[in-house]
Order: sequence, then C-alpha cells, then structure tokens
Amino acid sequence: MIYLDNNATTPCDPSVVKEMLPFFENDYANASSNHALGWMAKDSIEKSDGTLASVLGILQDEIIFTSGATEGINMILKGVFESKKEKGNHIVTSKTEHKAVLDTCKWLESHGASITYLDVDENGLIDLEELESAINTETILVAIMLANNETGIIQPLEAISQVCKKHNAPLFSDATQALGKISLEHFFEQVDYACFSAHKLYGPKGVGFNYIKKEHLSGFKGFIQGGGQQRKLRGGTYNTPLIIGLAKAVELAHENFTAYNTKIQDLRNRLEKGISKIEGSHINGKLSPRLPGTLNISFEFVDGEQLLTSLATKIAVSNGSACTSASVDPSHVLTAMGLSSNLAFSSIRFGVGKQNTEKEIDAAIELITEQVRLQRENNILWARRK
Ligand code: PLP
Repeated sequence: MIYLDNNATTPCDPSVVKEMLPFFENDYANASSNHALGWMAKDSIEKSDGTLASVLGILQDEIIFTSGATEGINMILKGVFESKKEKGNHIVTSKTEHKAVLDTCKWLESHGASITYLDVDENGLIDLEELESAINTETILVAIMLANNETGIIQPLEAISQVCKKHNAPLFSDATQALGKISLEHFFEQVDYACFSAHKLYGPKGVGFNYIKKEHLSGFKGFIQGGGQQRKLRGGTYNTPLIIGLAKAVELAHENFTAYNTKIQDLRNRLEKGISKIEGSHINGKLSPRLPGTLNISFEFVDGEQLLTSLATKIAVSNGSACTSASVDPSHVLTAMGLSSNLAFSSIRFGVGKQNTEKEIDAAIELITEQVRLQRENNILWARRK
C-alpha cells in the first residue's frame, strides 16, 4: 500500500512515540494530583507548554490543550459567541472552511448567530473587498483558515488580518494543515485565535491546542466545565502522554522544517508532473500558493468514487476531506471554486508526507494513469469527447 493521504493523518514519528511511552507506563500520575508524582507530571506538561511557546513565539498562557482541531474550533467559535454577546452575534467565514467550522457555524445559527459565508474565486481565494464589506459593527469574529485541507490553497492572511484590524474584528484562523508545512513567522501577530492538531504533523491523534491571544483570555467562556484545569478554560484530566507527544512533534517539525518540506515539495511536484500528463486532468488551485505536499486533481469523464475503489488496496488517497468521506455530495470546497459537480466528483486529493519515496510516487503515477484509462475505456462520452 502506498500511503498518500497525509492531509487526513500522518504516521506518528518513532521519536514522538519514544517520548510518550514513559508517560503511559511509569509517569502516569494525574497532573492535577497534589503529591510528588502529580507534581512531576505537571512539570512535564509545563515543559511541553514551554517548548510550544518558544518554538511558536507565543506565551504559555495563550496555549490551551484540546483533543484536536475539531474541539478547538468548537471552543473558539462557541466561546467567542458566548463571550461577546453584548457586542453582537455576527461571524464572517468562508464557504471552503473545514466542516468543523461550517457545521459549528450552522449550529450557532440555530442558536441565534448571524453568519456570512464568503465566496471564493476559481483559485480558491476569498475577496478582500467582500470581506471588508461583510464586516459590520455586530461582527464578533472573522474565521478564515490558513491552508485548505482539500486543495492546500493558502489564504492571504496578512492582508486579511489588515482588514480585520482596520475594523476591529478579531481574526480566527484554522491553521491545522499549515503547522510544520509553511512558515508561521508572522502568523501570531496577525491572528487573535488559532487551532492546531498533532496528528497532521507526525504526532499522536486525539490531541491539539488552541492559541488565544492574551488580550482575549479574560472573559473567554470555555465550554468544557469540570475540574477547573487549564485556567478553567477546558476542564478534564490532562492527557499527559499525548501532550508530551504533541510538543515533541512540533519541535521536530520546527527543527527539520527545511529538510522535510524540500523533500515533500519535490515529491509532490514529481507526482503533479506525472499525473498531469493524463489527458483531461485539471489541477485544482494550481495558480494559488499551496501547501508543499498537497495535490488536488480532477479527471474529466471519470467517476472519482470508482477510481478510489479501484485504487483502494494499492494507494491510500481521498476524494476531498477524510472527515466528509461519508458524504455523497461533491466536495463543497471544489464546488465553491466553481467546479461542476461531475468534475468535483472526479477529484482526488493527494497528501505527500516525509516518509514517502520517489519509488512510491512513480508507482502511484503508473497505477493512477492505468486506472483512469480503464475507467474511461467503456465511457461512450469520453470516446465522443471531440
Ligand atoms: N481543520 C482542518 C483544516 C483539518 O484538516 C482538520 C482535519 O481533518 C480539522 C480541522 C479537524 O482536526 P481533528 O482531526 O484534529 O479534529
């Protein structure tokens, strides 16, 4: 099996596993317990907190551990909605956000929120003027992701941030796919809130963290009550091993940033070059800045579902987001970019990772080229296309 679904999740790096193991077997005390073993666990968590803060250039207090980005997104959207009721109920987001944002926005709408969903152009980018005119005096949050999980398209966050600052609208950016893959050097100056997840960067599943800028912490209403952990912002026993693993994964991504991403981008470009030789193929988001490892491609006259089924025991890829794989609708991201349902249905998303090799990429190109040919073989429309 060739694994090219690294946007859905990544394998846990062996050194991350090694770092976590003692915290399952030996150093298992509850970090909130008031005895020497509990204090040691608390110390280890604070060390991880410190690692994240220094690698990312933020404050320890601005970090809240979560079970991953879905929880992180729920915490921020619902928390801001609850905390800012006296200012307003309006949130601006875009049509190509992850379902965790869109579904939470739908839920908020049923609880009195007013949501503006911005369109994107054919390159997957929002329009800054549209953003500016959507913001009003009732706007309590603008939620625009940094990098899209299906296409890898990177939004112009610096310009978005300028618009938000001009109108005093706090900015939340889902940067789950971006951490470890693109530089976040100025990111934390630009945003007020952000969320991340360890399993997208060779860390364990079920852990992530939120960034909440210091000035927004007081008065912020967390929505998981109980135990008072994490300064009452998110109750529940600290998941010590996973938090240790998360910090190690972020540290590794930081130390190896250039090496990992140069390799990943070279492999993605090799894949892109090989697959785009297939007649009637379209790279989605080709003209926009994109994540180094993501390739989203549609094939005319091919049923993406059948194509995926034919590849399912040989190559691990997705047609869109793994989180929406139960859906029978075409990708909301691709249709928002103006693709027809047919072309959106025929798309495949590749996520190249640091563990992939040139040999795997070449084998994948060969397999996909052959399967696309087979899918079209008995398609009368393909035969008559000219
Ligand atoms: N946001 C984006 C952009 C993602 O890619 C994902 C993962 O698919 C999520 C949010 C949800 O992350 P998690 O699996 O940690 O809940």
